[in-house]
Amino acid sequence: MTYARVGQSLHNYGLAVDFIIVSDDGKRALWTEEEKWTRVPAIAKSLVFVWGDFESFRDFPHLGMSGGLSTRDLQKRFRPSLFQELR
Ligand SMILES: [Zn+2]
Repeated sequence: MTYARVGQSLHNYGLAVDFIIVSDDGKRALWTEEEKWTRVPAIAKSLVFVWGDFESFRDFPHLGMSGGLSTRDLQKRFRPSLFQELR
């Protein structure tokens, strides 16, 4: 779920995931905005992920972790030190 070009998405560097919320029995995907769609990102943000509630568009299933690096930095082959961030 992105409008980014190749090399401009954290997905291109293995630094992003897209998730879905499923029903308690695990049989149905839940796409309506409800408490779980804000609770999961709140937990992820506490683990230094950035949620996809961008100003330009809302990509709620998206979580990324760039370690403060821009996509330009990533294109130059810099990589975040993620283990340091999780301490
Ligand atoms: Zn994504």
